[in-house]
This record gives sequence, structure tokens and C-alpha cells, in this order.
Amino acid sequence: MIERTPSVVVVGSVAIDWVITPKAERERSVGGSATFFSMAASYFGPVRLCGVVGKDFPEQSLADLRAAHVDTEGLEVVPDGLTFHWKGRYHDDMNHRDTLDTRLNVFEHFDPRLPQSYRGSEYLFLANIQPALQLRVLDQMDPRPRLVGLDTMNLWIEHTKDDLLKVLARVDLLTINEEEARQLTGEPNLVRAARAIHDIGPRSLVIKRGEYGALLFHEGEVFSAPALPLEEVIDPTGAGDSFAGGFMGYLARVGETTGESLRSAMIYGSVMASYCVEGFSYDRLAGLDHRAIDERFMAFSRLTHFERARLL
Ligand code: AMP
Repeated sequence: MIERTPSVVVVGSVAIDWVITPKAERERSVGGSATFFSMAASYFGPVRLCGVVGKDFPEQSLADLRAAHVDTEGLEVVPDGLTFHWKGRYHDDMNHRDTLDTRLNVFEHFDPRLPQSYRGSEYLFLANIQPALQLRVLDQMDPRPRLVGLDTMNLWIEHTKDDLLKVLARVDLLTINEEEARQLTGEPNLVRAARAIHDIGPRSLVIKRGEYGALLFHEGEVFSAPALPLEEVIDPTGAGDSFAGGFMGYLARVGETTGESLRSAMIYGSVMASYCVEGFSYDRLAGLDHRAIDERFMAFSRLTHFERARLL
């Protein structure tokens, strides 16, 4: 079969979460940065997943990933290990959450080996996981992909900053939360934080701002994408990873990284994030079709459209 859309390789966590929101709770909620990313990106083209799970990972979720045409050859199953576990509780203002527990489990001794078929992919996303693992995956890509994106979090900025800076120097795009951008650079002003991040390595930067949307910094320009005001948010977990999946998936699909395509990617990322938060786990993400994605893209367009001609 000839692949028309270049594939995206993703490495990151595949997890069993325990999610507590002000209204509801799910104790064994399948999550992980690479899971949400893969589910979201799968609507745009081929996705190849690299990660590890333990014996407790539900067969149904493996089947769901495969049903979404996610290549799981690089997803190792450790027969005597337990899957990565994260437990978090959201505040009434669901932009904020506390991590109650993180257990690396099978990620502690994970030595990622990319299948041969993954190594020549043109797009690579290093989703949130230990920077040392992100580095090992990047080293195995041959030739270097056309576009390498990365996501990270406070834990790694705090405990493994040297590794993080090493890998950041080699990536094209960083997606990061507002607070984490400040933490990484020590700079409270986001515009200055963005400049400091460009100096570390990434040419393009997306700063995620929860229900306030996301900002793109690229070649001296700033673009702001809103988040859709939703009446009911069930579970914000994975919104950032779904955003990244839509963003990278779209870029791979169109095969270019011009300023214009990056702006559209911001909206497709926002579309996938908005669907993600409407359910626990990947419940809502898994059942979409292209019409639903296009409809929401248009809703974003209406949300921000205004007539320049009305300028006085
Ligand atoms: P997000 O809401 O986009 O920040 O991502 C939430 C997902 O990140 C959850 O499903 C968790 O399993 C996963 N996660 C939480 N902490 C970590 C960590 N330290 N490393 C990797 N993944 C994590």
C-alpha cells in the first residue's frame, strides 16, 4: 500500500489514570500523553505509537487503538509489570488540578526500541514522558524527521532539567502550559518566556492556556486560538495531548509548516482538545468522524470572525 500522508511517530505515556473532578470520578481511566495524542492524530493520517504498558492494561484499549488504525508494533507489553499510573484531582475551576500520585511502573526500566518501520517517519512527537526516553527515541530516527515536536511538564522541569534542555535543543516545536513556560525560563512575562524558549532551540512554540486557548509563537509572530466555550466539561485530562495530536496530525497531512498551516494546525488542535474534554478518557475522541471535526472547525471560525471593514 502506498501511504499518501506521511506518518507521525509518537512516544509518551500510556497510562491507567484515576481522575477525580468536582462532579464525577473514574478510577481506571485509560490515559497517557501518547494515548490521547494517537487517538486525536489518527483522524489525519497514520500514527505509530511507541510506549510500554503492563499486564493490567485493558485489552479493549489496545483494540480501540488498533481500530483507530494506530500502529502498535512499538507498544511493548511487559507481562510482569504494571502500567504507568497517574492520579489527579481537579479544582472547581477545572483549569487547575493537583497530582495525588504518579507511579512510573513499567516506564522506570523502559528501553524504547523503535521498530524499523518507524525510523524513517517524517514527523515525530515526543509526548510528555521522561526527557531521557525522549532523547533515546529521537536518536533512533534515521534520517532526522522533517518536524520534531515535544511536550513536557513541571515534574521534568524540576527534576531532570539538564536532560530536558538537551532534547529541547534538538526539537523544532514545543507545546507547553503557561505555568510550565514560566517555570522553564524563570520569566513571568509570556512574550519574554517565548523568546527564551526560542533561544533554547524550538523555532515554534505553542503555549497552552487551558480554557483560555493557546498562543503560537513563530518567526516573530504571535497567533491566538481560543478554546470553545463549552457548557459541560467532563474531564480535562488529555486536552493538551489531544491538541498536540490534532496539531501534528494536520501538519503531516498538509506536508508543510508555513505560518498559515501552523495557524490552521492551532485550530485543529483546539478542535480535538474540545472533544477530548467532553468525556472521560478517550471516550469522546474515539467516536468522531470527519464531519464532526469539520463542524467544530467552523464553530471556531465563527467564534473569532469579525469584519475588518468596520474599522472606523
Ligand atoms: P494532560 O491533561 O494533557 O496534561 O495529560 C494528562 C495525561 O498525562 C494523563 O493521562 C496522565 O497519565 C499523563 N501524565 C501525568 N503525569 C505524567 C508524567 N509525569 N509523565 C508522563 N505522563 C504523565
